[in-house]
Amino acid sequence: MPTMPENKSERLAALADQCVQCGLCLPVCPTYALDGNEAESPRGRIAIAAALARGLAPVTAELREPLDHCLGCLSCERACPAQVRFGELLVETRALLGPAPRRPRLLLAMAGRPSWLRLAQRLARRLGLSRWHRQLARQLPGRSALRAALGIASVATAGPAPTPTVASATGAGLALFPGCVASIEDSDAQQAAIRLLAAAGHAVTVLPSFCCGALDAHGGEVRASAQSMQRVREAWQGSGADGLVTVTPGCLGQLRAALPGAQVSDPYHLLDAAGAALRFRPLPMRVALHLPCTQLNLARSSEALLALLHRVPELEVVPLPPRCCGAAGSHLLEFPERAARLRAPALESIETLAPQWVLSSNIGCRLHLAAGMAELGRAVPTMHPLALLAQQLIEGNSR
Ligand code: SF4
Ligand code: SF4
Repeated sequence: MPTMPENKSERLAALADQCVQCGLCLPVCPTYALDGNEAESPRGRIAIAAALARGLAPVTAELREPLDHCLGCLSCERACPAQVRFGELLVETRALLGPAPRRPRLLLAMAGRPSWLRLAQRLARRLGLSRWHRQLARQLPGRSALRAALGIASVATAGPAPTPTVASATGAGLALFPGCVASIEDSDAQQAAIRLLAAAGHAVTVLPSFCCGALDAHGGEVRASAQSMQRVREAWQGSGADGLVTVTPGCLGQLRAALPGAQVSDPYHLLDAAGAALRFRPLPMRVALHLPCTQLNLARSSEALLALLHRVPELEVVPLPPRCCGAAGSHLLEFPERAARLRAPALESIETLAPQWVLSSNIGCRLHLAAGMAELGRAVPTMHPLALLAQQLIEGNSR
C-alpha cells in the first residue's frame, strides 16, 4: 500500500487517484439510485473531492452538496475492484470542507451527550410533551431537522443505563462500549450482550457512556472527533480488556480508527463461535431483519447474526433488501426528505411481509424505521437482535 503524503489535500488527492473510474460501484450506491446523477455517485464524489483537493475548482454549494448527501454506507468501497478507501476519502474530504451548512449542531450536541439526552427526555415526560411529539412534528416543514428529531423522539423508549459490570467467566476479557444514544435507547441490547457473551464464556466490562465521535468525524468536526477518539483510547487503556465490542455497528469505524491494532467488533462472530454453549427456546414468530450498512460493509457480521437467529426454533427470519434506510448517522436530521425517500422501499417491504417484529442492530436505523412506520399508522414494534436472542436464551446451559 503506498504511503500517503503528510499534507492533507495531497493525501486526499492520492486517495482519489486510486479510482480507475470503472463505474462498478454505481449500481450499489443508494444516492445514485435515488438521483440518477453522476455527481451523486461514488465516482462523481471522488472526482469532486480530487478537484477540490487540487484547487482546480472553488468550493461552491453545487459542488459540496453531493458530498454532503453521501450516506457513508461504504457499499461502494465493498464493491470496488481497485480497493479505493472511500470511507477514509469521505472523512478526509469533509475534514477539508468543514461542517455542512445544514448541520443541526444543537440537536447533534444533545444526541452525543447521554446526560443531556436523559435530562431532555425526563423534562419532556414531566411536562407531558412526549404525547405531542408527533403532532408538533406535523406542523413543521418536511426539510426541518427538528421535525425529524421529534418523529424519532415519538418512537424512542429509553431504558435504564447499562450498569458497569464484570461478568464472571473463563474466556477472554471484553470491554463493552455503550456509546451515546445507544447507551440510553439500546441499554436492553447491551444487557443482552453481556448475558449472551457471559453464556459464551466471555467476561465483559462496561465502559463509561460517551460518544465515539463518529457523528463528528462524518460531519467534518475534526477537533471534536479527535477529542472523542482520545477519550475512547483512555477508556480502553483503563479497561485492561483483550477486545472491544459494541452493539452499535455505526460506532465500529470510529472505534477502529481510535484503536488501530485492537480487536474491535460487534458480538455476533463471538456468539456464533460459541456453538452449542448457546441454546434458545422456540419462538413461533415472523421477524423482518434489517441489516445496517455498517454491519454489512464494516462489521461483515450479517451471516453470523443470521446463523444465530436461525438457531431459535420456529423463528422465521426474513431479511429486508440490503439497501441503506437513509438514517446514516446525522443524515436523517440534515436531509430529512432524502432520508424519508431512501427509507420508503424498506417500509414497503415491511408492509408486504407483515412481520410481528422488525429487528435491526443500529439504533439510528431502528428509530428511523420506527418513525416511518408510525407516520404510516403501521406501528410494528422494533427490537435489537441481541435483545431477542437474550430473551430466548436457555440459561444454565453454558459450558
Ligand atoms: S468501483 Fe472503485 S475504481 Fe471503479 S469507479 Fe467506483 S471507486 Fe472508482
Ligand atoms: S458511501 Fe454509500 S452513498 Fe456514499 S458514495 Fe458510497 S455507496 Fe454512495
